[in-house]
Amino acid sequence: MKLVLPGDKIGFVEEFVAGKGAFEESGEIFASVLGRVEIRDRVVNVEPFKSVPEIKKGDVVLGRVVDMRNSLALIELTRKKGVDRGLMHIGIAALHVSNVQNGYLKELDTAVRYMDIIKARVIDAENLKLSTKESEMGVIKSICSFCRNQMVRKGNELVCPECGNTEKRKLSTDYGKGDW
Ligand code: ZN
Repeated sequence: MKLVLPGDKIGFVEEFVAGKGAFEESGEIFASVLGRVEIRDRVVNVEPFKSVPEIKKGDVVLGRVVDMRNSLALIELTRKKGVDRGLMHIGIAALHVSNVQNGYLKELDTAVRYMDIIKARVIDAENLKLSTKESEMGVIKSICSFCRNQMVRKGNELVCPECGNTEKRKLSTDYGKGDW
């Protein structure tokens, strides 16, 4: 049995049917959770690998975007709201494009990007799935894609004070406050 990350390609629709913990996109099948691949009767399932026992459904967490894969942003969880210390266990959670904001979002990278710090609600603790739909949830810290300086909020956009680059994000109402 193989350990996979959310967004890892695990097969093609010609070979398998996407089961639990898997999704189909453009003829290919991807893992939607961190776990082990199990195939039964041509159905490919990903059995979740529970890595952060202290996380429960409904928790508010903080993490950094460590990878962008298809319709998923992978977020390394570092903190849980209400707890002073960092998490004892490393967890890679998934934020799917459909859980970023209320209403349709076409391109994930117009809402979150690599290295962003995200505040999110845990909607599925077993599979470590997150949502940033609430106004308080979303990006709270971001760096410029060009010059790596910290971006400043201006209305609903982010502006780089160094190079003037503007970028779009699903911003948390806590963006730039240094407190979450
Ligand atoms: Zn810049």
